[in-house]
Amino acid sequence: MTITITILFFIYGIVFGSFFNVVGLRVPKKESIVSPSSHCPTCDRKLGILDLVPVLSYLILKGKCRGCGSQISPIYPFMEFVTGVLFALSFYVLGFSGELIVAILFMSLLVIITVSDIAYMLIPDKVLLPFAIALFVARLFIPLSPWWDSVAGALVGFGILFLIAVVSKGGMGGGDIKLFFVIGLVLGTLNSLVTLFLAALIGSVVGIVFLKKTGKGRKTPIPFGPSIAFAAVIAYFWGADFVSWYGNLFS
Ligand SMILES: [Zn+2]
Repeated sequence: MTITITILFFIYGIVFGSFFNVVGLRVPKKESIVSPSSHCPTCDRKLGILDLVPVLSYLILKGKCRGCGSQISPIYPFMEFVTGVLFALSFYVLGFSGELIVAILFMSLLVIITVSDIAYMLIPDKVLLPFAIALFVARLFIPLSPWWDSVAGALVGFGILFLIAVVSKGGMGGGDIKLFFVIGLVLGTLNSLVTLFLAALIGSVVGIVFLKKTGKGRKTPIPFGPSIAFAAVIAYFWGADFVSWYGNLFS
């Protein structure tokens, strides 16, 4: 039974992921998320039902627009698939519990900001704010233990990132700082610190690979949001395991 529902959550995930792509791409451009319907950015061809099946359409069309043949970025089916995995994982780990609501909201936020940050190097307030409010309310009913760890986590997350931004003179975007406030709210202090540690690690690897592949200079700005999001997922599900594993390295 668990497996069946987990698969169902995966399917919900890829469908929502398809919508999150639209939100992540349109909100920063101040476009409506309902109209116009999805179209090819090159030839404006409207996408029909068959073009809109998450992941599968991309595979069937081999990543090309049916109208003009231009390449569709693999980021979109990839993010749909990732959302499917994250929703399935949330249910698999948490089952039908209050925390599942927190998890689904949190995963949704992380996917949307990843899309926005990759596309525009921007984590929009219009996405952060509604999710921050929803997650704050959710944490009132489904608190961390102790409950004030949410408040402490939000302040610590925000505070450290703010300090880094000041010290690095703008090396950290405002969106990243606000995002860490929300992460702290959801994860509490310790797991926020785990997120920061892992995000720095992942971010460095991404940075090195990106610069090597593109041959661009060290000053090239690279979005940090996706690394933070990836780190936050690990910290959310396995933060405690990570802390004990890390502790064992030194004992
Ligand atoms: Zn086209």
